[in-house]
Amino acid sequence: MSYTPSDIRYDAMEYRRCGRSGLLLPAVSLGLWHNFGYVDSLENCRQILHLAFDAGITHFDLANNYGPPPGSAEENFGRILKEDFHGYRDQLIISSKAGYYMWPGPYGEWGSRKYLVASLDQSLQRMGLDYVDIFYHHRPDPNTPLEETMAALDSIVRQGKALYVGISNYKAEEAAKAIALLRQLGTPCLIHQPKYSMFERWVEGGLLDLLEKEGVGCIPFSPLAQGLLTNKYLKGIPEDSRAHKSTGFLQESEITPEKIEKVKKLNEMAVKRDQTLAQMALAWILRDKRITSVLIGVSRPEQVTDSLQCFRNTWFSAEELQQIENILR
Ligand code: NDP
Repeated sequence: MSYTPSDIRYDAMEYRRCGRSGLLLPAVSLGLWHNFGYVDSLENCRQILHLAFDAGITHFDLANNYGPPPGSAEENFGRILKEDFHGYRDQLIISSKAGYYMWPGPYGEWGSRKYLVASLDQSLQRMGLDYVDIFYHHRPDPNTPLEETMAALDSIVRQGKALYVGISNYKAEEAAKAIALLRQLGTPCLIHQPKYSMFERWVEGGLLDLLEKEGVGCIPFSPLAQGLLTNKYLKGIPEDSRAHKSTGFLQESEITPEKIEKVKKLNEMAVKRDQTLAQMALAWILRDKRITSVLIGVSRPEQVTDSLQCFRNTWFSAEELQQIENILR
């Protein structure tokens, strides 16, 4: 089946400036951490990507280790790009990362120049690309000088293998140092990718302020807490859910009665707002203008359609915000 993107794909999406850069990102971006590996259905991946692009999602986020097996999400994505998105490369923002374990031996993880350069070369090959738009250091490395890691990112940009660079999972103090080093090198840090949701609020303790001050964008990952902040676990753990799948990162033990109690109350609020809980959880993050884009995951096309309705209502009254705080407390 050949794919022709919708002519009206840019009409409904909101695009936000990434920090003080020239780059605009869609307010909702799609990550390929789960559901895009060799263990998953390629046709489902294809349908999700078609639907996302048709809805104005121009940004797709990958990493060397996404799968399983590691690397297979990049390979599947590369295949679909080649088969279906030929001619659209300049309308796409594709990111990849390196930092977590990828291959055995001392050069297969963390933050050395050796690892980052080799890993990006492998990612480019898997995706069939000449360059990625954004390349991230995936997690801070306590044992490699930050100067080396940031210099590696700078040279990757100078070699044309990435247009921009970012950092992920860096705490505020670590991020401040990385941002300063990159600025000195002449390759500004474009974006930070932290975990942020109603259930995971650490970025509010200084990171968001830092990013705003430094003009760096912010793209929170797992904004739905891997699916917990939706209505799917309200009546137990469905068979086709991430928590149930052996390849899913969400553990059944994380779905505690206390969390579900909160989810139930949040869900009632969402219903009153005429939203699904997924939509409300995304809208709650997007109401903060320091957020460039929320990075969602999906297991099926209908979830893209559902989540994108979050734009219908991103406004919260002071009472609603307080009510959310009370529930989360
Ligand atoms: P989410 O918190 O958005 O969770 C996605 C899951 O939520 C889906 O797989 C699905 O679960 C469920 N879901 C999504 N939409 C709906 C909906 N509308 N209704 C009901 N359920 C829904 O994000 P992820 O945890 O997947 O992370 C998103 C992306 O962030 C990743 O793909 C990756 O790109 C990035 N990431 C980055 C990390 C880093 O260290 N930098 C770490 C983790 C993620 P189900 O499968 O059960 O249907």
